[in-house]
Amino acid sequence: MCIRYFKQITLLGILLVFLSLMTAFAANIVIVNADGAGEGFNDPTIATPIGGNTGTTLGAQRLEVFRYAAQIWGAYLDSEVVIEVEAQFDPLSCNSSSAVLGSAGATTVHRNFINAPLSDTWYPQALANALAGSDLQPTVPDLGATFNSSIDNNNTCLLGTSWYLGLDGDNGGDIDLADVVIHEIGHGLGFASYVDELTGKRFFSMIDIYSANLEDHSESLTWDLMTDAQRHTSAIDTGDLHFIGGNVDAAVGHAPMYAPNSVEQGSSVSHWSTSFTPNQLMEPFITNPPIHDPGLAFELMLDIGWLADIGNNLPAVNISSPINGDTFVAGSAVNLNASASDIEDGNLSDSINWNSNLVGSLGAGNSLVVVFNTVGEHTISANVSDADSGSATAEVLIEITPAVSVIPNEPTDVTAIMGETWPQVSWTSKSQEASFSIWRDSPHKKRAGMFVGGTEIGTVEAVTSFNDITGDAGTFRYCVRANNSAGSSDWICSTTTVVVASDSTGGGGNTGGGGGNFCEAHPNHKRC
Ligand SMILES: [Zn+2]
Ligand SMILES: [Zn+2]
Repeated sequence: MCIRYFKQITLLGILLVFLSLMTAFAANIVIVNADGAGEGFNDPTIATPIGGNTGTTLGAQRLEVFRYAAQIWGAYLDSEVVIEVEAQFDPLSCNSSSAVLGSAGATTVHRNFINAPLSDTWYPQALANALAGSDLQPTVPDLGATFNSSIDNNNTCLLGTSWYLGLDGDNGGDIDLADVVIHEIGHGLGFASYVDELTGKRFFSMIDIYSANLEDHSESLTWDLMTDAQRHTSAIDTGDLHFIGGNVDAAVGHAPMYAPNSVEQGSSVSHWSTSFTPNQLMEPFITNPPIHDPGLAFELMLDIGWLADIGNNLPAVNISSPINGDTFVAGSAVNLNASASDIEDGNLSDSINWNSNLVGSLGAGNSLVVVFNTVGEHTISANVSDADSGSATAEVLIEITPAVSVIPNEPTDVTAIMGETWPQVSWTSKSQEASFSIWRDSPHKKRAGMFVGGTEIGTVEAVTSFNDITGDAGTFRYCVRANNSAGSSDWICSTTTVVVASDSTGGGGNTGGGGGNFCEAHPNHKRC
């Protein structure tokens, strides 16, 4: 039985279901289920839980194996960007003795992105994202994977051999799916050359970071420095094709790669040599017993630019409502909304704890409605903890004002004078005002006592004066009204007008003696 892994570079598809892992790991690798209803990951065939796989349908068990495989890589590597593996099970070629198990690879490769360690060098998307610290292609999953569903569904496929769906490696005579998925995800994370081994040509004439670490030992040359012909020759230079990145070298010295003397596309170059003892996960042929550990491939990942898991990352929490500085009247319902996430633990929004420094605990969850009765300035905090006791808190300040049921009294003594620099308006407050609005208008040129051109020019809180800093020239009258949550008082206007000369942004001006029995062109009923 000859079973090969295939790599592929381009694989695009449609996101159907997005599954988020909730357990602890450092890079969050999620499986995007690309299968249709009733097939692949959605196959409803009843299945008995096996080997630690708790799924009760064939589809659920397949998905659980993928999630398990994703977590294994996630525990080794570090990335602040979620890694998406778009995966599906489809019937692939298979006969009684040979089958394609599955194929997987990076969906896109990137070069010359921000923080790229080497210029003009391809990096697979998941690695490029991790290095850049952001998703360079957010609409496209980072890895694509297609696995052969016929192995489960067709007894003539591999003479009745099926996928083993347990997680314990106790596969008997079946093919350990976890081993294969971990292997394939390894390719998608960067254990792959993008050089065409048949021609030695680089992918769009640029070397990839994996191939840049390949050496032909007999030539003492690395692949980035070779001609196409030299690379092709090296790809079939059995025993002399080595991976020489510093971490791999420190572990085993120059590591031999799979380089049979005629190119096996999809296998040559992008695997370890079969000479390793014990066997390595990233050898080209599946071995027994199954391997669920990256082994030396972890050192290789460090050599191409991945960072190792650095321990616990702290969660992040963000309050979207209320907004800092919001004011509410006592007794009103306030929406509390926040989101929280954690690299290791995923979405933590449901475990956010809310507090007010004045009234204590407000409850838990990502969305609450709380009625505030305690007047004063509340510091509202949203706190979340991750599985490793890391925590984060976000805060906003809100003010709860006394409830009022009557509109405020009109201000009195509204006075407008020309100050040193600006017209100054002042008044006397009465009671229960939350704010004051200021209106400005001008005497009608022909109709004595009528005011025109009015406009509201400002609102103030907690003070009883206002400077008209617009710099506008003219003859102005100013009016003030008081506001609270119940409504607004009438406008009360100054009995004098202020003259602002056209050049008087800096002082001067006169106080005009308007006075008299104006036809009250109140701003709130502007007619005479
Ligand atoms: Zn492989
Ligand atoms: Zn070497």
